[in-house]
Amino acid sequence: MDDAAASAQEPAEAKNSDGDRCPHCGSDQRGEQIPEEHLRAGWYGEWNGEPRHFSRTLLVEIRGVYDGGLFWACPDCDGRWHRWPPGSRLHAAAEPYVQRHQRPTTP
Ligand SMILES: [Zn+2]
Repeated sequence: MDDAAASAQEPAEAKNSDGDRCPHCGSDQRGEQIPEEHLRAGWYGEWNGEPRHFSRTLLVEIRGVYDGGLFWACPDCDGRWHRWPPGSRLHAAAEPYVQRHQRPTTP
């Protein structure tokens, strides 16, 4: 039951304006629009005037393993995928959690 120690947190901005998709179920990971005044204020870096969205993708932290986001998870199917590059220490640390919850990719 390592899930009891997992805490999902930190809403992040979607990776691109089209919204990224879950690699497992393909669901749109775009969340609510980022308030225009926040974009205008430069809180999210340079802004080209286009609407931008928060990401619904969950960044999961496993206490005792890494003090920060260890891997990504889909709020719809609980499919998980790596945040850190292969070969890195954190990729290796995340591997058991990511593998255990692999979901078949939607055809
Ligand atoms: Zn999914």
